This record gives sequence, structure tokens and C-alpha cells, in this order.
Amino acid sequence: MRPTLDASPLATPLPLVSPVFIDPVAAPAAPVSSGTPASTVRHTGALPRVLFVDQSGQLGGAEFALLQLAEHCRSHSEVVLLSDGPFRTRLEALGARVQVINDASVSGIARQASALNCLRVLPGIVRQVRALAARARAFDVLFVNTQKALVLGALGKALYRKPVIWYQHDILTREHFGRVQLSVIKWAVRLAVDHVVVNSQASARSLAALTGLAADSVPVVYNGIDASAFDRVDGTDIGSLRQRLGLPEHAWLAGLFGRLAPWKGQHIALDALARLPDAHLVLVGAPLFGEDAYAQRLRDQAAALGIAERVHFAGFQDDVPTWMKAMNVILHTSTEPEPFGRVIVEGMAAGRPVIAAAAGGVTEIVRHGRNGWLVKPGDAAALAEAIAVLRTDPALAQRLAQQALIDARAEFSVERYLERMIDELTAAMQRPGDRTNTQASR
Ligand code: UDP
Repeated sequence: MRPTLDASPLATPLPLVSPVFIDPVAAPAAPVSSGTPASTVRHTGALPRVLFVDQSGQLGGAEFALLQLAEHCRSHSEVVLLSDGPFRTRLEALGARVQVINDASVSGIARQASALNCLRVLPGIVRQVRALAARARAFDVLFVNTQKALVLGALGKALYRKPVIWYQHDILTREHFGRVQLSVIKWAVRLAVDHVVVNSQASARSLAALTGLAADSVPVVYNGIDASAFDRVDGTDIGSLRQRLGLPEHAWLAGLFGRLAPWKGQHIALDALARLPDAHLVLVGAPLFGEDAYAQRLRDQAAALGIAERVHFAGFQDDVPTWMKAMNVILHTSTEPEPFGRVIVEGMAAGRPVIAAAAGGVTEIVRHGRNGWLVKPGDAAALAEAIAVLRTDPALAQRLAQQALIDARAEFSVERYLERMIDELTAAMQRPGDRTNTQASR
């Protein structure tokens, strides 16, 4: 889900930059596939021409979900990014056409920004709205994947007059957003969005509470995880995997994957580790959205707890399947309700037991004692106890992991995700102006 950015982007004068346009590049001769053969995805009828829009150049969960969809739709779509970064490189490597419509003033606006700050970036917003609308005219549907994309798409709708579909990846509450942002999202949905799709029932409930829509009128499309990427990694010789990754070969390793951010709760995992004498913790991920101070706090915390030699900061890694298979257990420690939690399904697809914080979309994925282990969010003692239970009962851990593997494949496949998404895109195109989904119960 999207980051909480620093609260004061306007503390220093804003550079007045013009939008930077990067011309779409030709598709590379041999795109590197993300592992989903198009032929295995069932759909009927003509596919709409789609303009995808995402605010981030970084790779978070929403971007990984879009990566798969944009690859599948690459012959009749384009992706507009509102910031440049590694996400663009990954999209282009998969053969997607990409344009970056960047405006530094708008990129700096925070989730918790005040109304005044929003007003001050107005010229930049107008530039981006016009640039986006100019692109959108050439497509059948505008697919907005993040909040800023939603707002820009909504503001320009009168200029391009195409159906707008929003894939909502977040829980829309005050824990995650400022008052102004929630209000803007509410009105953008009410006035301009034709069709909303959510990544979990938990996200749908938050949308319902914010907008008055009926939660059950909003289609839930769970993210899909490419199980074949995990199958390709041979996890039987865990020692040699660890050697390759520079991890201690014989230690008992708990892995925590995701960007370093306070609400992802890496500090809870450190507190739990301090209660477990000889386990190690591997933190895979980086502070993607300006949370560098938190990353430093984690290092300080590990030192203060006397566990620094048992904590491994791996940074951002591309090869998540290999890193996950090198672990004995996968942790999820978010202190706020997680909208979905791709890392949980990935841990399941890796065939490793998963311990997850029981809130939000997580409880739609993990069934306690059947395909994983749930703990109270933010409770380091409970987390330590759960780790100890699975460590001392390998048969239980293995049983959970086996069921998790089955459930991840059955319920969260990429094929299923793409089929559902294509259905929703097609429905949005076939019912232009029919805003039943977003008009349900006002
Ligand atoms: N991820 C990655 N490398 C890392 C850390 C995370 O590729 O070093 C990926 C992870 O595999 C997952 C995504 O980032 O697919 C995070 O998605 P999730 O839904 O867990 O969290 P979000 O970013 O949406 O808050």
C-alpha cells in the first residue's frame, strides 16, 4: 500500500519545474516475462485499450499487482507513472509502454498534507491533469492504481470522458491518511469513478464507511502471486541457498519482508527476537518512501537490545522467492490493519510457515492453525511465543506450510487475478456512464 510521506514537503521553497515527459520506448525485443503465459488466462471478447496510471516509481505491493496486469495487457495499453524509478524499468523490461508525467511539486505532497499545502501545489496538479487527460483520450478505459492517480484522473475526467476504474489497494482510515486526503478521495469516487475494485474485504469495508457505498457491491479482486517463480527455486538444500545469500548457514532464521516503515512493525520483530535466545532475524526490504530515520532507529534498537549480531539487514531484494526459501519461518508484523499483504501469500507459496498480524485483509488469507499462525498486532510477546511454538514443533510448522502452499495456489493465482481484472475492465468499458458500482447506496 501507499506510503505515509514526510509531513512537511513545503518546508523549503518548491522548485517550479515543468512536467518531465519521457517518451514511450519501443518494447524490448525479448521481454522478460513475469511468469504468466497469456494463453492460460481465460477471457472472452475484445480487450479494452487501457491507460494505467500509478503515482509511484518505487516497487510496492500495488505496483507489483499492476506489473502483472500491464504485462498481460501490453499490446493494447500504456502505463503513466507520476514519478520515475525502478518500477518504470521493470515495466519496460516486460514490454509495457511507459510515460512518466512527473512534477516535483506534486510528487512531494504528503498523505497527511493540509488543505493549504494542497492548494500550493495546484499549478503542478493542473499540469499533470492536462497531460494525463491528453493521453487518456486515446484509450477506452482509465485504470487508476493509487490515490494520486485517482485524484488526477477524476479532476480531468471532463477533458477525456472515458470510464474510470479504480483498484483500491488501501484501507481508507485515519491511521493511514490525513483528513483532507480522505475527503478528496471520497469526492473523487463519488463524482468521477465509474467502477471500484478492491484488494480485500477489509479495504471494501473502509471504502463503504468513507463513501456510503455498500461494501458488498464492490468486487474484491485479490492480488495474484506467481507460484512458478517459487517452484523454480530448489529449497531442499537450505544451507547452500544461505551460502549464496551470505546468511548464516546453521542458524534458525525468521524472515520479515517488506519496506522498512513504522507501521510494518519491524521494531516489534526486534523486540520479539530479544526474547528468543538464539534465533536470527532477516529484514528484507528498504525504506522506499523516505523512512530512513526509521531504518536507523531499527539498527539502534538492535544494538540497544544486544541482538545486533542476530539481525541481518538485507536491503531491497529482487529475488524474493530465493530469500523466502532460505528462511525457517516468515513473519508479518504490521501494527495497523494490512489491506492485503502480498508478502504473506508469497511466504505461503514459498512453502514456509507464516506468522501474521491478525488485522485487515490478513484474516482473509490466513486461517489460524490451518494454513498459518495469527497473532495480535503490535504484541512482541505474542509474536515471540508464536515463533517458539513453531520452532519447537516442526511437524506443526510443516503441516501449516503444506496447507499454505495449497491455499496460495488455489486462492491467489496470477491467472485468477488476471481473469477477474480483465472481467472488471471489460465491464467498465461496456457500461460507460453506468456508474452502478459507485452509485450503489448513496
Ligand atoms: N518486496 C520485494 N523486495 C523486497 C521487499 C519486498 O520485491 O526487498 C515485494 C514483496 O515481495 C511484495 C511487495 O514488495 O510483493 C510488498 O507488497 P505487500 O502487499 O506485502 O506490501 P505493500 O508494499 O503493498 O505495503
